[in-house]
Amino acid sequence: MKIKGVLGLLFSLFLKLFGIAVLFGLIGYCFDLPVFGMFLIGFVVNFFLGTIFTYFYGYMHEKLLVDQTKKMLEYQSNKTATVACAFCHEPNIVPIDLSQTKFRCTKCHHVNRLIAEFSAAQITVPQSTDDMIGRAVE
Ligand SMILES: [Zn+2]
Repeated sequence: MKIKGVLGLLFSLFLKLFGIAVLFGLIGYCFDLPVFGMFLIGFVVNFFLGTIFTYFYGYMHEKLLVDQTKKMLEYQSNKTATVACAFCHEPNIVPIDLSQTKFRCTKCHHVNRLIAEFSAAQITVPQSTDDMIGRAVE
């Protein structure tokens, strides 16, 4: 079982390293061209294409990761709140949903009751505008 996996991995590695080179060598053999020269050309082409592919794949993967992290942070900041567990005081991220009044702690797995508190505040005008005393906006 393990040897089969290792052999599969080695075969995959061989194909990735020499697949295109062997193909170029076969083309050279079929068309009566120098086989070793075609093999070398194939190896160089494979090397450069592999390098370029790896570079762009890494770049795209990193960009995707950054975008996902940004979206996740945006979602968490708008639609979730951090609440400490009543039993172990571990901070838990809970969705802001008025129909959901309980959450389970990620650390101690106790069910906590969620209490939301609302209050009102005046809307004030920023001080950089004409109204410098900050009166409430109608
Ligand atoms: Zn807890």
